Amino acid sequence: MNGTHTKFTNGDIGEEKPLKVLIAGGGIGGLSAAIFLRQAGHTVEIFESSRFASETGAAIHIPSNVNGLLRRMGLIPEDHGANQCEWVSEYRPNGEQVFLKDVRMLSKVFPYPWQLIHRVDLHNALKAIATSSEGKGTPAILHLRSRVASVDVASTSLTLEDGTSHSGDLIIGADGVHSKIRGALIKDLPPPEPSGSSAFRFLIPIETIRSDPKTAHFAERDGELRLLYGGDRRIVVYPCKQNTSLNFVALHPDEESEASAEEWDQSASKETMLHCFRSYPEDVKAVLAKAAPEGINLWKLLDHDELGRQNWVHGNIALLGDAAHAFLPHQGQGGAQAIEDAAAFGALFPFGTRTEDIPKRLEMYIQARYDRATLVQDVTRQSAFKTSRGKHGGMVMNPMQFTELNFNHDAFDNAHGILLRELRKAAAYQRMPLSFGPTPSPRQDLNGRARTLGKHNYRTSFVTFKTHKSYLNTLLPSNEFVISSQGSWATATFSVSKLGNLAWLGARGYSFFGLYIHDVTHTKEGAGGNADTKEAKGDFLPVLFENMADPIITGREEIHFPKVFATLDEQASASSYKLSAGWEGTEFCQMSLDGLSESVDAESVLQAPVLTCSSNVSSDEKGTTETLSCFSSPALPSQQGEKRWKAASAKIKFTDLEGKELELAFPTLANIVKGLRGIKIVEILNAGVQAFDYSNVSN
Ligand SMILES: Cc1cc2nc3c(=O)[nH]c(=O)nc-3n(C[C@H](O)[C@H](O)[C@H](O)COP(=O)(O)OP(=O)(O)OC[C@H]3O[C@@H](n4cnc5c(N)ncnc54)[C@H](O)[C@@H]3O)c2cc1C
Repeated sequence: MNGTHTKFTNGDIGEEKPLKVLIAGGGIGGLSAAIFLRQAGHTVEIFESSRFASETGAAIHIPSNVNGLLRRMGLIPEDHGANQCEWVSEYRPNGEQVFLKDVRMLSKVFPYPWQLIHRVDLHNALKAIATSSEGKGTPAILHLRSRVASVDVASTSLTLEDGTSHSGDLIIGADGVHSKIRGALIKDLPPPEPSGSSAFRFLIPIETIRSDPKTAHFAERDGELRLLYGGDRRIVVYPCKQNTSLNFVALHPDEESEASAEEWDQSASKETMLHCFRSYPEDVKAVLAKAAPEGINLWKLLDHDELGRQNWVHGNIALLGDAAHAFLPHQGQGGAQAIEDAAAFGALFPFGTRTEDIPKRLEMYIQARYDRATLVQDVTRQSAFKTSRGKHGGMVMNPMQFTELNFNHDAFDNAHGILLRELRKAAAYQRMPLSFGPTPSPRQDLNGRARTLGKHNYRTSFVTFKTHKSYLNTLLPSNEFVISSQGSWATATFSVSKLGNLAWLGARGYSFFGLYIHDVTHTKEGAGGNADTKEAKGDFLPVLFENMADPIITGREEIHFPKVFATLDEQASASSYKLSAGWEGTEFCQMSLDGLSESVDAESVLQAPVLTCSSNVSSDEKGTTETLSCFSSPALPSQQGEKRWKAASAKIKFTDLEGKELELAFPTLANIVKGLRGIKIVEILNAGVQAFDYSNVSN
């Protein structure tokens, strides 16, 4: 026999309410986070420095896994001009083709398509979903021309450049590569630095390219992503806008264009661009020459060292997207990783997350995102081409090599799995099944937090009687249990409770019927003699019949109650009560109370702790009992406002079935029924009913 345990939590989970989330930056990452969090049920405000005129004419690719995240948000890329990436080809500096791969078959390997979309289309679609009055949750409020100047960790607040302050439960810094929030949180961090290369970005209508025989081959296949290698430079070309526009990213050593690191989209001269790629084959130069000068933007590529795990989150403020992990464009993963971060927020902050849960959830955010984003960031760095000023790159990589790494990761499911496992670990009760996170029960909610019975109702009908102590002693599972009444008599109660309107059972209820042996003491001697001896007093419960599987399972696993299934049919009127307990249509017990009259001075029964005994089964040898343990649980609370009735008479009778007949009627219960039938009711001491209904209580 082990020690005496008390394992019953009771607390109040309170009303669930939305978190107030403030997001700095309405770029791809900020808007995606706003969508995931509004759809989870939270209130979201976005503070965006620009007027949203700055998204430039360039395309972005949507890897299969991120495509799935967009669809989860309700954004269907093809409805916004996205076309599929169907081919990938690579060319040497002399124009010779290295390979042409049909990547349409990837749709058989990954669940969502690999698509190419115009940034403005993606951004507009995200903005519409985040702020729309339609769709799940409360529309996010978008404040334009609202540049965040600083944040305060202690008060979880941000201050705008105009001096106004806003506070929330959670702040997300999604303000891009030059993040103010990051700068405010981490004072001694070196800023992002030039990587040694820059990129010209522009679009050319496919019609223009097709109409010229010298360049028509650049548009001969729909959805072709071309990599035009050239030593220390590279051009990436792919279509967007349903294959009507060809997007160019022309990467080159930054000293050749000397762009400012502070501004992303300067207009750059066409002349400089053509000069940078003068060594390229004639057909490439011919296609570059078709770029409209006013449509060419120059982007100086910045790199940022890993921030370190400890720097992604400070208090209830977290970084997301480029603010947390600035990306070079060589794998087209910057936007993708920002969306993955946002999805992790959606998964880790379901409705019902409380302010006090936020720090732990942000730890899970780091767990879900840090290694993944950092790995992709690093692989991206390595896949850059080497320039004289650049620190990284120069590794020869097959562009398809990392498709598996990039595409084969569902950031929402990954974070959701982390949340479930962490909640289960921290839950009050490790209840089976373990795969779905904490399973709700009378004692814990979906988050594994303690819960009360809530606005329930109950009716308990009981018979307390005098009986032979010697027989009740046979029902005590070890000598450590003793009935402490004097002499040869003992008292016990048969009691039936019907519970209703239980939150954890979808407002339904169930009944339970048990035998309670009064005045029992359990004594466990400790190894250190008397000082270590533990004693528990209460009503010992040899068996509890219940008529629903869920409470039987939770009660057995969580509070070690000896629960078994039985049908419990009850009939109650103003003056009488009847119970028929049975199994599969055969009755084993009848209990009845008659002549019930309301009694204001009747005492509540069964208010002592409930003692139960369960065996600890060895994990090595199935069914081998190693030890027995005694558990003490609080009695069901007797509510204020409870009504009580006394019975003028009461009867309880167990079945007359004997031997084989009994076993056939009740294969698993026969021995229990036989044991209960051995109890002689010498005198009924008290019988009655007590009931409570929350809905009758005036607030
Ligand atoms: C040419 C090019 C091609 C690319 N191709 C791809 C690709 O194919 N695939 C891919 O996944 N990624 C690609 N990227 C990278 C990707 O665009 C970025 O990594 C991504 O936009 C990062 O998202 P974000 O939300 O973190 O930051 P951003 O999109 O930069 O958004 C930050 C937002 O914050 C706002 N802001 C800044 N400071 C403040 C402030 N103080 N207060 C309030 N608001 C502020 C900005 O105005 C902006 O709206 C490409 C980038 C470029 C330039």
